[in-house]
Amino acid sequence: MAQASTIEWTEATWNPVVGCRKVSAGCANCYAERMAKRLAAMATADLEAGRNPGKKAAYLHVINGAGRWNGDVYLDDSAVEAPLSWRSPKVIFVNSMSDLFHEDVPLKFIQSVFDVMNRCPQHTFQVLTKRPERTLEVSKRVTWTGNIWMGTSVENRAVVRRVHELRQTGAKVKFLSVEPLLGPIPRLPLTGIDWVIVGGESGPGARPMQAEWVKQIRDRCVAQDVPFFFKQWGGVNKSSTGRTLDGRTWNQMPSISAAL
Ligand code: SF4
Repeated sequence: MAQASTIEWTEATWNPVVGCRKVSAGCANCYAERMAKRLAAMATADLEAGRNPGKKAAYLHVINGAGRWNGDVYLDDSAVEAPLSWRSPKVIFVNSMSDLFHEDVPLKFIQSVFDVMNRCPQHTFQVLTKRPERTLEVSKRVTWTGNIWMGTSVENRAVVRRVHELRQTGAKVKFLSVEPLLGPIPRLPLTGIDWVIVGGESGPGARPMQAEWVKQIRDRCVAQDVPFFFKQWGGVNKSSTGRTLDGRTWNQMPSISAAL
């Protein structure tokens, strides 16, 4: 079974890799790390009670005693082929609990994940990375079918170079996840970009986002005809801040086409 997701811009998650290492300001309050900490604690409790922790055991390999990423990745071979058995078409977020292009994920493993995506034309895969320099490095050694949407995170001006790296990859659909938006990015480059998601940070320690920063990006998307998705204002209690901008929701997405 695919793991259903509450993330507004996807339907399900698939995690052939878990574990990560922080690389930029956007990682400071990593949601995956918080979730992994919880799952590792549940796995420990299961083991102590003589129960089988199942998939949760993977998180014991990637979380340290302080409840933080230890920097390692765990490759879950048993998960790699899972989407082949999901019959109904889904939009799938790949590696919500890691980064497929983490420096320690072997090329062969990345290729096996791509092979499964290539063989699943019924699904749309959203791969999101903060390491597009590695995506670019391996780009010619994987097959980019049209059902693979490749995205990079751009949380502030300091990491805008990621857009340029993403643009040079062979991905047929390219997107930007501007989340958590931490500062103005008045000249976010959009040439060759097929989709932009913007969102504020949520949860404990959430850093505030100004409406002006969001509107600047929305206006650029509208002017350049790039689908724009506004995910949330965020904040400590995201359900109270909502996701409308100038009186409406913004749920635009690229159109879903079968793998080419
Ligand atoms: S790259 Fe993503 S998963 Fe990895 S630490 Fe940063 S926010 Fe978390």
